[in-house]
Amino acid sequence: MKKAIITGVTGQDGGYLAKLLLDKGYKVYGAQRRNTGKRYWRLDELGITDKIEFVDIDLGEPYNIEKVIEKVQPDEFYNLAAQSFVGLSFEQPQVTTITNSLGVLNILEVIRNKFPKIKFYQASTSEMFGKVQETPQTETTRFHPRSPYGVAKAYSHYLTQNYRESYGLFACSGILFNHESPMRGEEFVTRKITKGLVEYTQTGKVLELGNIESYRDWGHAEDYVEAMWLMLQQDEPEDFVISTGKTIQIKDFIVRCLDELNLAYEFNGHEVIDMATRKHIIKTNPKFFRPAEVDLLVGDSTRARHKLLWKPKHTLESMVKDMITEDLRRWKS
Ligand code: NDP
Ligand code: GDP
Repeated sequence: MKKAIITGVTGQDGGYLAKLLLDKGYKVYGAQRRNTGKRYWRLDELGITDKIEFVDIDLGEPYNIEKVIEKVQPDEFYNLAAQSFVGLSFEQPQVTTITNSLGVLNILEVIRNKFPKIKFYQASTSEMFGKVQETPQTETTRFHPRSPYGVAKAYSHYLTQNYRESYGLFACSGILFNHESPMRGEEFVTRKITKGLVEYTQTGKVLELGNIESYRDWGHAEDYVEAMWLMLQQDEPEDFVISTGKTIQIKDFIVRCLDELNLAYEFNGHEVIDMATRKHIIKTNPKFFRPAEVDLLVGDSTRARHKLLWKPKHTLESMVKDMITEDLRRWKS
């Protein structure tokens, strides 16, 4: 039986990846932070909480990481833990750097010094492309991050590459474009929209958003965790872009959700008015604008599709439906 450690197991991707590995017969060790309370709602909804063996890891603690790896002796290590919210990284750049950069250094040092046979996956991100230097973005596109989050992740991306080349580790990064699902954190724009619009239909509470002009290449997290696993099953470690290749404006995502909920609406600039009541459904709030924005992301995942034979099952349409349906179910239950 293969053994895998997943850091960030309480997060969106951690839950889906744990489920995938359990279905494949792995023994899954879910690494969680001891000090943040046990947030198992995603694992509970996926029905896998009692199938995971939990271990305590904080990425800021090298000794702690070493002890856990020593105890578990995993075949594979998926590092999904991060301060993952770009907006917060402007307010908390140090915490972001400690977790997203030094945390990765801490893991890689343990692996290279003591357990060099472990296969390591690092969760890189399209936010490293930031102010994009070419479109679509590929594995060779130059990085130009636009946030402390993007900068910290670029460090870890290069570090993973460097440890692979310097010490021959099986270490690779997936450059994943935004991926969403009903398990997405409520602070991210897609989930904020689906949950907020469902709440509007139930209570009339207005949804407040920031800049809805940027474009994102949005896939479904369930498809993207499969790519992570595929990367660690290759003969050679390599980095891959994982994306849908399609980009849409946030405004268009909002329209799709409004239609899914059968609301009659009209846009007034960036704000949305309910045609039945003439009241606001969505208002703009400057507090949700960022000091620097990533305006356009669209990825070219041709290499992953050819070499990993990775093929997403979800579409944008099925994802919107999935997210709205689950938020409605949660509201009513
Ligand atoms: P989430 O925010 O849902 O989950 C992040 C996880 O990291 C949580 O389990 C959190 O634990 C844990 N964590 C945070 N800080 C620490 C720490 N210091 N020590 C240990 N654990 C910690 O993120 P996602 O699941 O969406 O993303 C997974 C990874 O993929 C992240 O690294 C993210 O940056 C990256 N990524 C995500 C993309 C996306 O679109 N979702 C796109 C590209 C990359 P707790 O529950 O205690 O807060
Ligand atoms: P990101 O791509 O990792 O930053 O994912 P987010 O979902 O946090 O943000 C995607 C885009 O939505 C960014 O361009 C944000 O500026 C924009 N956006 C607009 N309004 C909001 C909001 O209220 N919350 C968030 N999180 N993003 C918003």
